[in-house]
Amino acid sequence: MTKRLERGMRLVVASHNAGKVREINDLIAPFGLSAVSAGPLGLPEPEETGTTFRANAELKAVAAAEAAKLPALSDDSGLEVEALDGAPGIYSARWAGPGKDFGVAMQRVVEEVRARNAWIAPGPRANFTAALTLAWPGGPVTTFEGKVYGHLIWPPRGTRGFGYDPMFVADGETLSFGEMEPAAKHAISHRARAFKQFADACLGS
Ligand code: IMP
Repeated sequence: MTKRLERGMRLVVASHNAGKVREINDLIAPFGLSAVSAGPLGLPEPEETGTTFRANAELKAVAAAEAAKLPALSDDSGLEVEALDGAPGIYSARWAGPGKDFGVAMQRVVEEVRARNAWIAPGPRANFTAALTLAWPGGPVTTFEGKVYGHLIWPPRGTRGFGYDPMFVADGETLSFGEMEPAAKHAISHRARAFKQFADACLGS
């Protein structure tokens, strides 16, 4: 049985990324909840040693919940390319290198797919996945996973969004995530799908 979060509760977002904390706050605010970031609480940033999105989301949320003695929310996400056996996957951020250059990361995806002769029109199959974990101090730990499927395009299109957005077109869409209005992307994104499941299971009506 999943434990629900009640209005007025404070939780911690297990991330030192201000953008992620803002995004999660926007999502939970309508349910009367507020979140503090792991940074100002001085919480350590655990190493992402898991081999799945779920494992990494869980280790971050559990570490934050135990350190802050508050319920903690974390997410882990990335791009999976079928022809690359799911790569870059949990390494999506790392493929951008220390300069966090997603031009470099996207180029690498294309080169690796081409090296396998797998760039077949209209483009290789891919999905974004997001794992969202809610951990309570002392347990339980619950994870929700959202996916959005589509295909890759090259050259990339659009300047909106972030990461691999300009090279991903979701099924049923013609615009890339980099070209779509943010609200249109958020309506169908992997993160929105994970959040919807979390809200249904853990948040008040
Ligand atoms: P995380 O902070 O470890 O979850 O890193 C996720 C990485 O996956 C990001 O740095 C992006 O490269 C990629 N990613 C996750 N979600 C999206 C998305 O919605 N659009 C584009 N790239 C994404």
